[in-house]
Amino acid sequence: MISYHPDSRYLTDFATANLPLAEAVCVSAHLEFCGKCRAHVQQLTDVGGHMFARLQPEAVSEDSFAALMARVSAGAQEQAPVVTVQTPREELDETTQSHVFLPRAVRRLVSGSLDKLRWVQLGKALRVAPLQVSDESRDTAIYDIRAGGRMPEHEHRGEEITVLLQGSFSDADGSYSRGDFVVRHAGESHQPTATMDKDCICLVCLERPVRPRGLLYRLLEPLVNYRLQRLNRSVA
Ligand SMILES: [Zn+2]
Repeated sequence: MISYHPDSRYLTDFATANLPLAEAVCVSAHLEFCGKCRAHVQQLTDVGGHMFARLQPEAVSEDSFAALMARVSAGAQEQAPVVTVQTPREELDETTQSHVFLPRAVRRLVSGSLDKLRWVQLGKALRVAPLQVSDESRDTAIYDIRAGGRMPEHEHRGEEITVLLQGSFSDADGSYSRGDFVVRHAGESHQPTATMDKDCICLVCLERPVRPRGLLYRLLEPLVNYRLQRLNRSVA
């Protein structure tokens, strides 16, 4: 059951195509899990379209999801060749032998499969694959926390959006499961731990890199950032 939803600012900006692309991808991913927010966006789109139609009777309002996919595709075309893949609605994750549902915008960004991503292993419990999104304001990535694994405790230096695509995790503030849209703000710190039953796979959009709290991780941080930046450059 989904317990965490984007607030009305995200939904309004999404419906009016005013949300920066990386955040729009996160909202779009949540909408595929959440009928309640889909209905809300549809209402906002209808109201906006109605107002627009009154101003310009011949104009046709564009569906907000179609507009987003056009932006995702346009960004991909600018930076890398688009691989058109006929992908099934569900992808087989070979590490867990379970099906990971990939929302459409995510599927477009990963060329259809998580296996095609370039993963960086960060400790035993976590691997991260940067995604190529044409949005300089955010770093977007897929995180895979091993079943039962615990991420290093870290502090946020900017806003972070997490959309859970598979599995669940918990921290001191609560438990989060598939479809949840979790927002963290600068100054908040936490230590997510995946539940034991399966790997937790998340779409994550970060305004600024997180700051690990343990001494060892702080010492390793420059190395990790260097590796991720190199990987980002090589996929761009
Ligand atoms: Zn929702």
